[in-house]
Amino acid sequence: MAPLNFHNKVAVVTGAGGGLGRGYALLLGSRGAKVVVNDLGGDTKGEGKSSRAADAVVEEIRSAGGTAVANYDSVEDGENIIQTALENFGHIDILVNNAGILRDRSLPRTSNTDWDLVHRVHLRGSFLVTRAAFPVMKKQGFGRIIMTTSTAGIFGNFGQANYSAAKLGLLGLSNTVAIEGRKYNINCNTVAPFGGTRMTEDIMPPDMLEELKPEFVAPVVSWLCHEDCHDTGGLYVTGGGWVSKFRWENTTGVMCRESRVSAMTPETVRDNWDKICDFTNSENLESNEETTGSILEVLNNLKDTP
Ligand code: NAD
Repeated sequence: MAPLNFHNKVAVVTGAGGGLGRGYALLLGSRGAKVVVNDLGGDTKGEGKSSRAADAVVEEIRSAGGTAVANYDSVEDGENIIQTALENFGHIDILVNNAGILRDRSLPRTSNTDWDLVHRVHLRGSFLVTRAAFPVMKKQGFGRIIMTTSTAGIFGNFGQANYSAAKLGLLGLSNTVAIEGRKYNINCNTVAPFGGTRMTEDIMPPDMLEELKPEFVAPVVSWLCHEDCHDTGGLYVTGGGWVSKFRWENTTGVMCRESRVSAMTPETVRDNWDKICDFTNSENLESNEETTGSILEVLNNLKDTP
């Protein structure tokens, strides 16, 4: 099969001045995409700003023969970032929401500022950039959007109440963008990456950082952003070259009312708890409709009298 290219595609990668975002921007740029390298250039806690990070990546893409421009706005100024794509390249086809910061503290020590800043950059920022890009993608009948979550969002993580909440919020946002985008050929998928970056350099030994280079995540993001990839609403955990799709799983469930006229008590729930939590013969419901449908089906089968 032919190699994948992104000729005539315009990609915006947020937080592309370093780490994973830089990896995404370099790969997309090397495959022909015109890239907007967005980066505020602050530190991992969201303090400070500088144009250096974005400029350096733009230079790398250009010196390898690619096309790129820098944007130094915060993702909180989503309109400006998309405007940079439109002014320079006329359209926007691919959006990788990647920018992020950390303000780790245990729950009781998490200040309002720690909570708000993390939400503003990750969740609100991704919303604002995506909202700005969506109408352009809708009009042209093509779009590929990536949201970035984390296993900390999926499973929780000590000291990351703010981050994990924002990161799981991004999965919800992604799922809804996927639903709203479906009929316009706008796909939206979520990645939970593992990457050796400044965000993880304190918690991983150097040899592991080397094994988790952004180059081993970027191909997954690139494939999800390609026009040949038709998957949407997916969640992919990836790092070090390993790629896996995640999904929800539910037990078959137990009707805790004997009949339409029976009371439901805490004791019935207690007495059925093992069955309620038993994943043997589990299901993978994939939508609101399927979930509501399965509840309605059980209700239909409920006896009228005990
Ligand atoms: P990184 O710190 O190397 O890169 C993040 C980039 O975002 C930085 O260049 C930073 O300047 C930029 N940025 C921060 N706030 C910004 C803002 N308001 N506007 C624009 N740019 C901003 O970190 P990374 O490890 O490459 O992380 C990239 C993404 O992947 C983040 O969303 C992070 O939460 C997520 N993630 C990373 C890992 C990992 O193992 N590295 C794991 C899970 C999730």
